[in-house]
Amino acid sequence: MERFDVLVLGGGAAGCVLASRLSEEPDRTVCLVEAGPDYGPYDEGRWPADILDARQLALDSHCWARDDEQDRSQLRARILGGCSAHNACAVLRGPPVDYDRWGAGWSYDELAPYLDRGERMLRTRPLEEDEVSPWHRAFLAAGGDDGFLLHVNAVGGVRWNAAFAYLDLVRGRPNLTILADTLADRVLTEEGRAGGALAGGRELLADTVVLAASSYGSPAILLRSGIGPRDELGRHGISAVAELPVGEGLIDHVGTGVVWEPTERLQREAAEFEREHLLLMGGVMLRGRSRSCPPELFDLFVFPAIEPGYEISAAAFAMQPHSRGRVGLTAREPGAPLSIDHGFLGDERDADAVTEGFEALRELIGSDLVKGLVGRELRPGAAIGAADHVRGTARGFFHPVGTCAIGAVVDERCRVLGFENLYVADASVMPSIPRVPVHLSTIAVAERASEWI
Ligand SMILES: Cc1cc2nc3c(=O)[nH]c(=O)nc-3n(C[C@H](O)[C@H](O)[C@H](O)COP(=O)(O)OP(=O)(O)OC[C@H]3O[C@@H](n4cnc5c(N)ncnc54)[C@H](O)[C@@H]3O)c2cc1C
Repeated sequence: MERFDVLVLGGGAAGCVLASRLSEEPDRTVCLVEAGPDYGPYDEGRWPADILDARQLALDSHCWARDDEQDRSQLRARILGGCSAHNACAVLRGPPVDYDRWGAGWSYDELAPYLDRGERMLRTRPLEEDEVSPWHRAFLAAGGDDGFLLHVNAVGGVRWNAAFAYLDLVRGRPNLTILADTLADRVLTEEGRAGGALAGGRELLADTVVLAASSYGSPAILLRSGIGPRDELGRHGISAVAELPVGEGLIDHVGTGVVWEPTERLQREAAEFEREHLLLMGGVMLRGRSRSCPPELFDLFVFPAIEPGYEISAAAFAMQPHSRGRVGLTAREPGAPLSIDHGFLGDERDADAVTEGFEALRELIGSDLVKGLVGRELRPGAAIGAADHVRGTARGFFHPVGTCAIGAVVDERCRVLGFENLYVADASVMPSIPRVPVHLSTIAVAERASEWI
């Protein structure tokens, strides 16, 4: 049996922040438990090439098993750094209104210093126009005031994941233990207190337990610990310790895309570009407004992408979706895939918004600035109407939040309701979704929560 002051379960974007910040106090022992591997500090050169390569998503290795392997929206990384180790490196913050509604202590003004800190730690920088491919430049020009170059956490061609950003400088601390390849099963609780956790077949005792296993993994650990909806616990024969809506309220941005053949001109221009530059998959986004969006805000994104071999695509996403899904268990064993139902388009308003975004995307493609680059539409094929395509192919943007939401599962200081020393501090606590990709917001949540734990 080992004992620590703090156990952090899950070593992804938030977990790396928490382990780093909480171990700043030399007298506090902190153990970070991660199901996936840890390849050590960046400088030791042991990280796999696909995980380091900022040009593309790294989805061919280090992923969790899914209950439906066809459902790409469930993709998530199993490695120190979590999804920050395989993501698209886009670093964005939402407008103040996205945070002001989270509850006391979470207004944009209060969160801004932590968003700033996260940007600095991730070594974020704005892309210059000459760093993005001809495909992206065409969208930037066609989008006018709504097009913008992304800020990225890529250092040279290296995806600067949260493990490099937050752990490399502190790995030598004697009070910090990183337990990789260790699957957390459940939290040990007694009368409103957490006493530790079962992980990798070991009993780890602790004065404080913090869950940072993502919007999928954190509710799963709580459910296995007997904290959740009574019917979900009952289905798996788990005795109820506390009844809370754990796993309910899953939110992700939703959208769909198009794939085209590149024209000869685009192939030539992209090859020329690639001789001097890194061909980043993403680099530009375009804001849009659905009919129901207030004029001063935006609620749609168009995201053009280019991949090796110059496969070109673009997708439109609804960034303020109304539909909600849920995360549950398929079995009580910690290794079993989770039951993840995003509930996409359950609310008709989302289908309307994505359809509007998709129509705007096809209009952009018809503009003089873009049309010389696109050949035949490979998927879905121009004959298919926008509404049908949206209904048939809607998918997530890989930004799940909300399954342990502030106000429903945790209080405004991220403490699980009814527990003195059990916290959740990752993307799952966001009670509503910012209208941007959520990596930076997650880092800021963990930065902020680490001061309360
Ligand atoms: C393909 C993809 C592309 C993305 N692109 C972008 C982007 O460009 N910009 C952006 O802002 N956001 C992006 N995101 C989203 C962003 O990466 C996430 O919002 C962020 O990583 C969430 O942080 P987290 O700490 O909540 O979860 P994660 O980073 O997923 O970390 C959770 C960690 O917990 C571990 N874990 C889970 N269960 C257990 C368990 N039982 N025991 C032990 N460990 C466990 C996991 O292995 C993982 O390491 C992308 C996500 C994906 C999947």
